[in-house]
Amino acid sequence: MKLADLGEFGFIERIQRAVAKLEGSGVRLGIGDDCAVLELPAGQVLLTSTDLLIEEIHFRSDWSDWRALGGKCVAVNVSDVAAMGGSPRHLYLGLAIPATMTMDDLDAFLAGFLETAADYGAVLVGGDTCRSPGPLMISVTVEGAVPADQVVTRSGARPGDAIYVSGTLGDSALALQRLQSNRPMAEELADCHHRPKARVALGRALAEAQIPSAMIDVSDGVLADLGHILDASAVGARLEQALWPLSSEFRQALAEESALFELALSGGEDYELLFTVPSDKEHLLADLFADVPVTRIGTVTEAEQGLLLVDEAGEMRSARAKGFNHFQG
Ligand SMILES: [Mg+2]
Repeated sequence: MKLADLGEFGFIERIQRAVAKLEGSGVRLGIGDDCAVLELPAGQVLLTSTDLLIEEIHFRSDWSDWRALGGKCVAVNVSDVAAMGGSPRHLYLGLAIPATMTMDDLDAFLAGFLETAADYGAVLVGGDTCRSPGPLMISVTVEGAVPADQVVTRSGARPGDAIYVSGTLGDSALALQRLQSNRPMAEELADCHHRPKARVALGRALAEAQIPSAMIDVSDGVLADLGHILDASAVGARLEQALWPLSSEFRQALAEESALFELALSGGEDYELLFTVPSDKEHLLADLFADVPVTRIGTVTEAEQGLLLVDEAGEMRSARAKGFNHFQG
């Protein structure tokens, strides 16, 4: 079947049928009316974030498994809710679809989107579709909820706080580099790029225990994303390369090419949580969340010190990064 035969409303009905009911999701009315009707748990505030993904800029359809791409669209949005300490609840999906995309591709994309949404406890409650004269464009909005006194922002870091990151860094960027240069890689490494995980349970646990003074998810590389915390909190930081959490795949690649360390500093799309912790709360981390390791990578300093990186030889250098700028030629 072709999308043209199904038509816009047929397509929306098809999506509506595929959306699973989720108990306790607060959805009074989902897809199918002019608006969704949604409830928020008592005492909680709404978190909202939106992301635009465009073919050739954010993904390449010849490298992407459609199901994995659908899942990734959810995970990268949900990651922003995790970074504020919240739980994802609702998703909205906008699709501008090129004529070249088949119904099978769309069904696989939607299956990945919906199964990943369910994994994170979120329900698709609305969206829009139209024909694209150019590339596939995907717009995803996520809504989450968090108890009002547990919201974690970027602005609370203070000098002396420890800087922590979850998981390992640079794997997604290394996988992308392997894809770009057409080199083979372990499936585990490829999955870091194609099937990233949002750290929702960790973000919730940290927020509930009120441990982080500031938090962000690593979408543009640690240096750039830590830079956002430093700006918002008006502080500086000293990072130590020797403490960097790296996967065994990454270490192996690094042994062959030491310049790859740059990917663990500035590579994007790890979707790990980067957060600062006052020293009197560091001991709480030990028994918090055994499933995802967290690693201390540095210390918050006074703003005048800027962002410094101590390399493995003990040499210190300024490490201020700009991150990826879509508007730069
Ligand atoms: Mg973010």
